[in-house]
Parts: sequence; C-alpha cells; structure tokens
Amino acid sequence: MEEIIFCCPVCGKKEFSDYLEVQDHFLSKEHFLIQKCNFCGFRFINPRPAKSEIGRYYQSDEYISHGVKKNDFLSRIYGLARFFSIKNKFMVVKKYGHSGKLLDVGCGTGEFLSYCHKNGWEVSGVEPNEKARKYAQTKNNISVTDQLSLLNDHSGLFSCITMWHVLEHVHDLDETLETVKNLLTPDGVFVAAVPNSNSWDALKYQGYWAAYDVPRHLYHFTEVTMHTLAARKGFEVLETIPQKLDAYYVSMLSEKYLTGRANYLKSLIYGIWSNCKAKKKGMGYSSIIFILSLKRR
Ligand SMILES: [Zn+2]
Repeated sequence: MEEIIFCCPVCGKKEFSDYLEVQDHFLSKEHFLIQKCNFCGFRFINPRPAKSEIGRYYQSDEYISHGVKKNDFLSRIYGLARFFSIKNKFMVVKKYGHSGKLLDVGCGTGEFLSYCHKNGWEVSGVEPNEKARKYAQTKNNISVTDQLSLLNDHSGLFSCITMWHVLEHVHDLDETLETVKNLLTPDGVFVAAVPNSNSWDALKYQGYWAAYDVPRHLYHFTEVTMHTLAARKGFEVLETIPQKLDAYYVSMLSEKYLTGRANYLKSLIYGIWSNCKAKKKGMGYSSIIFILSLKRR
C-alpha cells in the first residue's frame, strides 16, 4: 500500500515540485518519485510505501551485512571501511563525552556499541531487524530493543544518542525526534549522520546515486534542510563533520548501478574529486555527521 504525503515533514507546507525519478537499483527495480517542498526545499519520496509494507524492500541479507561474509573485492573494501568507520564514529562521540549512557538507534549487529562499551560507555541499542538484533544481544551481549518508543520511560537518561544513517529510513520522523529529545540528558548530544543529496557525487550520478537508495531512504537531506529540520524540531546544530570515506563507497556503488560493473579506479578518483569539491567549493560532503543538542531557551 502506498502512502501519500500531503504536508512537508519538515515545515508542514503543502506545495511540492517533482525533483527526480529514481529506480530501486538494489532490490525491487521499482521507480519512485522524489519531490521537493517549495518552501523549505526538503526532498522526500512521495508517494512512499506504507510502514507496514516497507519490510519487503529490506528483504536481502546483503542489506543487513552489506556483503561482509562474501570474499569479493567490494566486500573486503567494505569490511576495511567498516573497521575504520567504527573508530571514526567513536572519535566523534569521544569529543563530546567519555562516559555515561549511550544509545545507538539502528545499531545493527552492535559492533559500534561493543567498541563504545570497551571504552567506558554504558550502552544500549535499537534495531528493528530481528537477525541483527539477536546477534547484537547474544554475540555482543548488548541490551537491544526493536523500537525506539519502548525506551520512552528512560526520560533524560542518555548523554549520547547516535543514528548512523538511520534518520533517512524512519517513517515517523516527528515521533522519532520527539523521543530523542525526551531521552537526552539536558546537556546530551544527538549525533545524526545522513547522506547529502547536494554533494558532488549526488549531482554527478543523479538517478544512479547509490545513497538515494529508494524506497528505503524516505528523505534526501542537504546541509540546509538538516539545519531547518533541527531548528524546527527544537535542536541546535553544534557542529557538522564530513564522512569522507562515504564518497568512495557511494561512488563505487553508483558506478556499479550506472555501468553494471564496479570501476574501482574511477570510484577512487570520483571519491577524491567529491571530497575536494566539498572542501574547496563548499558543495558539501557525500555524507555529513550533524552534532545536535537540545535548544536552550
Ligand atoms: Zn517544507
């Protein structure tokens, strides 16, 4: 069943323009329309599969593991990138605190949480995928629930809440952000990493840009619209940090969608180019980490 969006999820206005039609290159091969709010510029797929229907678009082991069990070059690169990515994520968290309760929403198999636990944090997670959740619970020994709303009675307890490429997946954006606000300590930080649909690689690959990932990605943020969303929902942006490795990984996947094969050299060059453009021309990096705090009145 399809769900039609009548009010912009960020500003509530009702006038949209068509932005881009994108195919689900990863799984269903279906086409989806990305629309743009005429007032705040927020981009989102419309119509979109209802929450009850979205599950079938995730029915691939590869989506959960991103192919880490396979031994091909792409998977090995991804495994290596994941190792550095966990360390990088931890460095971001460490900048704002060294201990306390940390919640990772969309924690997957729990590797990041496990690393944080070893480094002084009391950790818990939210993961809707049963297989990944069970793995995090049994193999990584982490307390994980399947829904964020189940934690609502832990009001004001978390000094750090992280969502690494999760916000673009949630149907109930308002409810999710309200819950995050409720769970944070007054001086806590909310770390949200999202792809940037204004980056050089997004504009270069257009409908083949892997981070559109429709219909799993419901929203297609830019630096400006993330700032607007944060302000409207009562957050302050403390800092933005680039995720430079994403430019390479996203270019590699995009190249595969566009040409049918992964061109590693080209992806490397485009990744470097995207990061250069982001730095020198201010186009914005392929993925950006936003550090948010509760707005002080
Ligand atoms: Zn809007």
